[in-house]
Parts: sequence; structure tokens; C-alpha cells
Amino acid sequence: MSLARSCAHCHSPAVSTLAWHCGCSGPLEYEWQPHFEPERIDRGCWSQWRYRAILLPEALPVQPPVSLGEGMTPLVPFEAGVFLKLEYLMPTGSYKDRGSATLLTVLQAEGVDALVEDSSGNAGASIAAYAGAAGIHATIFVPAHAAAGKKAQIAAFGATLQEIEGVRQAASDACQRAAEETLYASHAWHPAFLLGQMSAAWELWEQSEGKMPEAILFPVGQGGMLLGYYRGCRALLAAGLIERLPRLIAVQSQGCAPLVRAWEQGATQVAPTEEQPTIAEGIRIAAPARGDELLRALYESEGFALTVEDAAIRAAHRTLARRGLFVETTSAVPLAALPAARQRLGPDATVLIPLSGSGLKEQK
Ligand SMILES: [Zn+2]
Repeated sequence: MSLARSCAHCHSPAVSTLAWHCGCSGPLEYEWQPHFEPERIDRGCWSQWRYRAILLPEALPVQPPVSLGEGMTPLVPFEAGVFLKLEYLMPTGSYKDRGSATLLTVLQAEGVDALVEDSSGNAGASIAAYAGAAGIHATIFVPAHAAAGKKAQIAAFGATLQEIEGVRQAASDACQRAAEETLYASHAWHPAFLLGQMSAAWELWEQSEGKMPEAILFPVGQGGMLLGYYRGCRALLAAGLIERLPRLIAVQSQGCAPLVRAWEQGATQVAPTEEQPTIAEGIRIAAPARGDELLRALYESEGFALTVEDAAIRAAHRTLARRGLFVETTSAVPLAALPAARQRLGPDATVLIPLSGSGLKEQK
């Protein structure tokens, strides 16, 4: 069996199991959505699967979930009023493992035996690892210029690595051609990926004993981390466990900032932009798949969107490293935006910065 999906925009049902978006180009969503109930947390389980009863519908015939021990990442103080969540301390070194675990768990339960995915590196490495753990063959399309460490990781997990010359979008285009015949396990498009990303918000709620930060800063390309917190926090709000959403703040590189441009214009859709070079490779996305939902998340949470220049990203990256936090360059993007965010939030607001990926992957 497979879970019913329908279009987030026009509500048409998915036309086939291989369909990865609607004919109107809208993303497909599950008709079922998780409802957070604290009494359903398995408090003896020390991974994100403590939320298994919330994260997966009972109708899906899941055996043990596909897990490498993801989730339960540390929450550590950084400076007055600022906390970090160390999402780079995951099995494959990035926050994407949350989504890969739920995605591969669902695909395994649905009987999938092969998949394709495209990525600048982290999602590809993560999905390759979890596909390996699930016994599913993965083909990962990456830009040829992706970090060598990430490409080595993808190959080591036994996936077929397809290197595509040109901009990031060229890897997506090649993957989408392959997706006509093989399931597209896209971290940007597949709704099962976002299920796992919601668990970060629930962990934060547990770790902070219900006192959520006033604002959360995210690096945003496809925006999977921001959307995970948005959906996870909405579930907490719906359950009456928090009084308001944290203000969700999207940070993009000056060189590729389609969401920031759309937010500045008060738009409800994100128009594709030109990809300019930036050192923040992980968020170089010209046209996010769920741009309208990202904008809704900003408006609904009274959040906002900021750009940062490469020089500020470089400085923030160095600051983190000098404090013992060895993250990849893209992970320093939100810290680079902290001074500008503080001006809007005020000096007393508590702020969370999730650190997305490991610096080890960028080493030559
Ligand atoms: Zn549609």
C-alpha cells in the first residue's frame, strides 16, 4: 500500500505512485498529518523514533523503522540569549538524517526497491546512507562542483553517483528525467521527508521544558529545516502546548535569495532567481519547491527574511570554529545574520540557531 497524496495547491490526487508533483506544479502532501500528543512519546527511546507513534500513520505496515540513531541532538548555550542545536552531529553529519529516516521508512513499507535523488551533497549523502540501511538502491545526481567529501560519502554508502556539469539546477533536471521511470525520493518534494524534519521542533520543546525560543534563524535553500520547525511548532500549537509560534527567520546568501526578494515584496509565491556564485553552496537554490509555504511560515510566525554577504558568512564560520563548532560554511549563514536579526528582535529575545552540517565534509 502507499499513503494517499494530493496537491497542496489544487487538491487533485496524485496521478501515480511515481508522481512527485501535481500537473499544476504544486507539491503533493499526505492527506494524513501528524497530531502531537505528549502521552504518545516513547520516553525510553533515545532517537527521533521516540515520536514514532506521532510521525507515522497506523495504517502504514512499518516493521522496525529505518534508523541509524538520528535525532536527540544537543542544545547548547552560545552567548547571552542564543542557543545552538547541533544538528551536524547526526549519523551522516547533517540535519537531513531526520527526514531521510522517515522517508526511507515509508518507502520501505511501500515496497520501493530503487530511487533517484538530486542534491548539492548533504541530502544525497543522507539518503544514500538510509537507502543502504533499507536495502534500496539509490542513484544520486550531484553538481560536479559539489564538495569532494560529500561525493565520497555518497559513493561509500553504495549509491550510484551521477556527477552533472553546470549549475545546481542541471543536477535536478537530470534527476527529474530519471524520475520518469524510478521513484524520486526528493528531500525537497517528497512529503515523507518533512515528517522527520518536524521532530526537531518537538525535541526542542522537550529540551527547553516548553519554553520555546522567541525566534529561530535558519539557512534556507529548499527550506526543509525551516518547514520542519514550522510544521512541528504548528502541531505543538494545535495541541495547546505552546502559545505562539517562534518567529521563523529565513537567511539566504546575497548571491541567491529568491525567498528574501519575495518576502520583501509581500508576495505569496517565490519567483525563480539567477544563481550567482556563493560560498554557501548548500543553499544555492534558485527556485524552492515549497516557496509559498515558506512565505506563509514567515508571515504567520511574524518572522522575516535576511540576506548575508559571503564575507560575513566566512567571519561567522571562523567564529564558530574558534568556539569548537566545526560546521560547514553554509551552516554559518544564520550566525552571520544575527546582528541584523537582533536589531529587529530587540536585545532580550531568546534565539535558537540550528547548526545544519559538519565541516568535515568540506575538507579536501
Ligand atoms: Zn495541483
